[in-house]
Amino acid sequence: MSAPAHFNPPTENDLREFVDLSLNLLCIAGTDGYFKHVNPAWETTFGYTREELLSRPYLEFVHPDDRKATTAEAANIASGRSTISFENRYRCKDGSYKRLLWSAVVRAERGLIYAVAADVTERKREEARLAAQYAVTRVLAEAPTLASASPRILQVMCESLDWSMGAIWRVDQRDKLLRCVETWHMPSVQVKEFDWGTRSRTFPPGVGLPGRVWTQAQPAWIEDVTRDANFPRAPIAAKEGLHAAFGFPILIGAEVLGVLEFFSLQIQQPDHRLLEMMSAIGSQIGQFIERKEAEDALRMYASDLETARKRAEEATRAKSEFLANISHEIRTPMNAIIGMTELALATRITREQREYLNAIQGSADTLLTLVNDLLDFSKIEARKLHLDRVAFNLRDALEDTMRVVAPRAHHKGVELACHIHPGVPDALVGDPLRLRQIVVNLVGNAIKFTEHGEVVLQVQAEPHSNGDAQLRFSVADTGIGIPLEKQVVIFEAFSQADSSTTRRYGGTGLGLAISAQLVELMGGRISVESQPGRGSTFRFTARFEVQKPGMEKPPARWRTLTNLPVLIVDDNATNRRILEEVFTNWHMRPVAVESGASALATLEKSLLADQSFAVVLLDGHMPDLDGFAVAERISQDRRYVGVKLVMLTSAGQPEDVARCRKLGISAYLTKPVKQSGLFDVIVNAIGQPVAERSRAAQRRKRPRLAQRRLQVLVAEDNPVNQLVATRIFQKLGHQVTVVGNGREALSAVQAGKFDLIAMDVQMPEMDGLDATIAIRAWEKTAGTHIPIMAMTAHAMKGDRERCLAAGMDGYISKPIRIRELDQAIAQLIGPPNPAKVPVSEADQADSVIDHAALLAGVDGNRRLLRELVRLFLADSPQHLTEIKEAIRRGDAGALRIAAHTLKGSVGNFAAKNAFTAAQRLEIMGGEGELDTAGEACETLESELALLSEELTKLTMNSSMRKTKMDKVGRRKGGQG
Ligand code: ADP
Repeated sequence: MSAPAHFNPPTENDLREFVDLSLNLLCIAGTDGYFKHVNPAWETTFGYTREELLSRPYLEFVHPDDRKATTAEAANIASGRSTISFENRYRCKDGSYKRLLWSAVVRAERGLIYAVAADVTERKREEARLAAQYAVTRVLAEAPTLASASPRILQVMCESLDWSMGAIWRVDQRDKLLRCVETWHMPSVQVKEFDWGTRSRTFPPGVGLPGRVWTQAQPAWIEDVTRDANFPRAPIAAKEGLHAAFGFPILIGAEVLGVLEFFSLQIQQPDHRLLEMMSAIGSQIGQFIERKEAEDALRMYASDLETARKRAEEATRAKSEFLANISHEIRTPMNAIIGMTELALATRITREQREYLNAIQGSADTLLTLVNDLLDFSKIEARKLHLDRVAFNLRDALEDTMRVVAPRAHHKGVELACHIHPGVPDALVGDPLRLRQIVVNLVGNAIKFTEHGEVVLQVQAEPHSNGDAQLRFSVADTGIGIPLEKQVVIFEAFSQADSSTTRRYGGTGLGLAISAQLVELMGGRISVESQPGRGSTFRFTARFEVQKPGMEKPPARWRTLTNLPVLIVDDNATNRRILEEVFTNWHMRPVAVESGASALATLEKSLLADQSFAVVLLDGHMPDLDGFAVAERISQDRRYVGVKLVMLTSAGQPEDVARCRKLGISAYLTKPVKQSGLFDVIVNAIGQPVAERSRAAQRRKRPRLAQRRLQVLVAEDNPVNQLVATRIFQKLGHQVTVVGNGREALSAVQAGKFDLIAMDVQMPEMDGLDATIAIRAWEKTAGTHIPIMAMTAHAMKGDRERCLAAGMDGYISKPIRIRELDQAIAQLIGPPNPAKVPVSEADQADSVIDHAALLAGVDGNRRLLRELVRLFLADSPQHLTEIKEAIRRGDAGALRIAAHTLKGSVGNFAAKNAFTAAQRLEIMGGEGELDTAGEACETLESELALLSEELTKLTMNSSMRKTKMDKVGRRKGGQG
């Protein structure tokens, strides 16, 4: 490595050249305030000549705002402190300013300051541009709306770029104009007039700075607006000292939504970097607007939705209220129509009149069903329908339901069957009425749409966890079927598979919609499978709670029938299968055949094999040899003398009943057969002596007319309803006082003595609820309690609860029907008082005593009869006491004996019901199964009461007795 070359220190000339070379601004200033020397960079940077720079005090070149600071800094330096980073602005020849960053030292002894300045204008601008962009981004991120963002954007742009004023313009597409929406200016500048002039102006495309930016969709720069030919606001700008301006568009894609413009007090050269950056900010604001608009639209949509939801809720509420009211309004006149028709039908009228009245009644019932359907539907829609949870017996519930629809099926010649599979639990908890509604609808439809063949209800059980039972129901028919495309819509409200069927079959299209909803409420699903022309099968599932495990085992009394040989004769295969299964379940030995001829052949064979049948169950209606013909052959054949005949007949065919009587058939049952009914009939039939084979065992009881004359107060404002209620109560044997409102009811109660108050709910002056509260309050002092029964056309759920809460004891909804009213009274007042019972002749013949058999039993000997009655009346209470005692002690043996004895003495009077009741207890005693003995004993007791009363009357009233006996005798003679 060689040593460095020798260096001679620079001469003054060298240094001068060196200084002149520098791109930085080098100067020597005197403490007198003048530049003494500047290097050539000054001339190129500011555009002044060297002479111009040296001939004026340097402070003249400094920005007026920076002069104070500059003077102070110069004093500082002069006092000996050097500066390294002082910043100020120097004016260029063209009026614009440059930012300079200084470092300086003083040569005090020479009265000179040596200073170097760097032009940091561009660097500062870049910082300002970045700061502006950042600030705008922040504003946009934080502002909830453009309106709140606008002034902030103008402010942060002015502050970071050091511009004095800004304005935002929005494009008005309709008027094709730009309108100023916001302005902002630095607090220090006075631009009042320009500000006002801007706010109050509009610009068409191309005009002024905003119009230019709009048309070009690009940023624009004006060095000095006061000299711009296309700047209408130039005069006021000049007045207030505004010069440079730039504007840029707010863009969404290529569309200009608005324009931003900014003004400076200085004349300024175009800053292309700034304009570039402003383009980006313009798009950013555009996106912000777009996003906000989308959000607004979304918010608007959500609020529209919310409004729509509220409106819909309101509408639904109004609708269900309307329906409740309208249903009330409709039910009130319906009450009169149905009640009066029922009363009229019970009077002496011609056949023609009866026909008319029956038609009125049928139509009124249909109308009522419709009202109820509508009400149900609206309640479900308004989610106001809640299911009951009560304990019920499934088989009874379904079989009773089938009875309701049976007449329609029989009328059309359609077989109706109900098959509840053996595994299905019986004791359930749920809403039996709503289940019944579904089944009635499905089976009713099946019957309606089937002309030939059968309708079969089947129920099966699926095991389900937590003790619930999931039941599978199906209703299959062989009717017209439903086309595939219609199968989906029929579960919707008001829809029918074929509107032309409406006219032919009637209906509203609501039934399935309601059923589907009810099924859903029961935790199940409904579906249909169908082939046009072949039939349909509706299936649904429903969940029920099982009452208690272990309740399903067949009661032990069923064992009496073990291995009983039974012959089933029915042409319908489904029925045969069901009956076979039922009998097999009861451990009997059923054999099923499909015709009368094969029945006779089977009986013949059984004789030969010495295995005769105990019971023959015959379907009354079969092709060729029908059940009655077979029965006739059997009863005429002495070889079959021990065989009991049970006839299955169709509901509502009175001639069948007459034929059964004539043929001496043990019992008849109407189809579809109820299992419990069938069981009782079989038990009765085999318990019966041959001679007793005379009358039907199963007959629906007529409504038992009221057995005690009650003083009834009817509070009802509608005169027609007053009349209906009066007549119905009178028909039931009661005395009626009518008042027109709650207040009158209260006075009547305080003044008179009533056994029962039937109270309308809606009444003028004082309604039924208030009246009840008032009556109950008064009763507290009077120490009485009169049962009050609400009579209301309201059928909404909750009405009952409101009535009961007000202190009523019972509830009956209009239209009032005699049978229901009678039952409701019985529930309120308790069992009838036999001592005062005026029993009609028809009732006697029906339910208590078989007069024909009774007379036959004593051979017409009235004295003997009186004697028997006397003995019976004396002894039976004792036997009853023994029975009760035995039950209380749980002594099965004693029960069997006491019941057997009583059965014997009852047997003398051909009192079927009492006989059956005693026999039931005897069987229970024999089986040692006393679970339900208490209940059976109650039945026996009430039957005995009726019998005693009947017998007393028979023997006491001799004149009545005589005519009655004669009548009975004549009837018997006719039958013989
Ligand atoms: P409605 O019977 O009162 O018209 P539903 O809702 O009960 O109303 O039934 C709707 C429609 O479904 C009926 O009009 C009928 O077209 C069709 N439908 C229902 N059940 C059956 C069936 N078992 N066989 C054929 N069509 C049926």
